[in-house]
Amino acid sequence: MAFAPVYRNKNMDAENVRECFSALRSAIPNPKTELHYSTPFQLLVAVVLSAQSTDKSVNQCTSTLFAEAPDARGMWELGEEGIRSHIRRLGLFNAKARHVHALSGQLLQEYSGNVPKNRASLEKLPGVGRKTANVILNTLFGEKTIAVDTHIFRVANRTGMAPGKTPLEVEKKLLSVVPAEYVMDAHHLLILHGRYTCTAKKPHCGICPLQYCCGWPEKKIRTTV
Ligand code: SF4
Repeated sequence: MAFAPVYRNKNMDAENVRECFSALRSAIPNPKTELHYSTPFQLLVAVVLSAQSTDKSVNQCTSTLFAEAPDARGMWELGEEGIRSHIRRLGLFNAKARHVHALSGQLLQEYSGNVPKNRASLEKLPGVGRKTANVILNTLFGEKTIAVDTHIFRVANRTGMAPGKTPLEVEKKLLSVVPAEYVMDAHHLLILHGRYTCTAKKPHCGICPLQYCCGWPEKKIRTTV
């Protein structure tokens, strides 16, 4: 995954971080994934497919894929070529089809088709790295993990909330600075904020709920009413 350069900013103090999350929670009262799924298995597949692809394009693919193969058994029997036929519009579709097929087989063999609830087991599945495991642990199993994707990496660096040169560095800093009451929702709050407001090009600072706590020196906020 390509990550944005580290931005010049001032590091946020604890009070500012709390202020930011309070503002994010007011602006995004129901922070949830935009991926469509009905079961844990389907969320796992959708997250694996979402690498370097938009949630919208993943949802278009999974609407037909999950209709034909709703569970690990169905996905395994559909086969790599069958999976590929549903996901051709996604980047890296060859590798993704291979991973989804293989992980379905592994889930059947080792977990009776269920999604395991711990990081070590998740990260042994084909196509599942730390970021995907964090999403699953947080969204399905209520663990206080924060998956750092390109949006969260940008927001954390740009605002000064948790500057870092790698996703892991940003993840660890976020876990150390996000107030406890916001950690569960931090992933979805930050990803939705980065996707729709603090966009990579031309961030919408003028309507941003974080405009007064964000430390990005290049932010362009409203100065008149
Ligand atoms: S003020 Fe601008 S740079 Fe700062 S978080 Fe908001 S959109 Fe992003």
